[in-house]
Amino acid sequence: MSKSASGARPHGARGGGKRAAPAGTKRLQSAESMRRLARAAREAGGTVGFVPTMGALHEGHFALIRRARSQNDFVVVSIFVNPLQFGPGEDFEHYPRDLARDLDRARELEVDAVFIPENQEMYPPGFTTRIGVGEIGLRLCGASRPGHFDGVCTVVMKLLGIVQPQRIYLGQKDAQQIVVLQRMIDDLSVDAKIVACPTVREADGLAMSSRNAYLTPEERAQAPQLYRVLRAAQRAILIERLRDAKALIERMRAQLTEGTRFEVEYIALVDPETLEERPVLSGRTLIAVAARLGRTRLIDNLLINVPGGRMAERMALKGE
Ligand code: AMP
Repeated sequence: MSKSASGARPHGARGGGKRAAPAGTKRLQSAESMRRLARAAREAGGTVGFVPTMGALHEGHFALIRRARSQNDFVVVSIFVNPLQFGPGEDFEHYPRDLARDLDRARELEVDAVFIPENQEMYPPGFTTRIGVGEIGLRLCGASRPGHFDGVCTVVMKLLGIVQPQRIYLGQKDAQQIVVLQRMIDDLSVDAKIVACPTVREADGLAMSSRNAYLTPEERAQAPQLYRVLRAAQRAILIERLRDAKALIERMRAQLTEGTRFEVEYIALVDPETLEERPVLSGRTLIAVAARLGRTRLIDNLLINVPGGRMAERMALKGE
């Protein structure tokens, strides 16, 4: 296995590589059988691509799976609603689950193995070890979801230990998750490469999410405002050349809440690697928002490059 897997060709991707497993999608519940199957694929010389999910699969997940399918000989999707990453009073119990449909989709997408462990399999009696991600897990979503990223890291570390993929596919929609998991992979010397995939959206701009199923028709009609506000912020930076983060955040807050039932959790303009705030906007910047619409918590973000000096002027002139 190697970190250089990233740009590597999909030598066995669909259509004739070193696929170790017989055709068809295997469904596995035990960690040991999952480990054995993925190991066999690696020992046959194939690459293993891994897509961790909590199920209720939608187009956002499908995009990750298709990308994994195109770059690897053997594709594993996990479906596990991880109790460790939900806080008290969050939606663990009600999180949408539709295993039969998920398995159909996985078959259609030619996934090799779907790993569906029970809680007992992942956290048997006596389980005590947790990953602590520190400061970076307390920013943005971590501020209102204490312990969330420790839970994410703990489950992903376990899944990586079981599947041992060369590549793990993650969605940019959960930008902080990518940052935190990259930190964990680097800090703990895990031999896997993150492949970050763009956010898949509905036609009206709303980022796809399993939680969108919670929205009432009225909330669903208001939900795309989140993305509109992000795009307006992008224009404010690139065309108006606004550089004062505080002013922009206040403007975004007003745009998001006026005439809607959005309640803002945070609006942040941060360094995309460290998640530290950028009071004066410059360079690569993540514009990230979390807001509640009724009982649904929505997140979205845009990654932009804030131009400086002459470049900014050229872009403003071109109307970009
Ligand atoms: P989840 O099932 O919500 O835990 O998500 C599993 C993976 O799918 C994560 O890496 C998410 O970032 C990714 N994902 C979820 N929604 C989207 C989306 N709309 N576009 C791209 N990736 C997504």
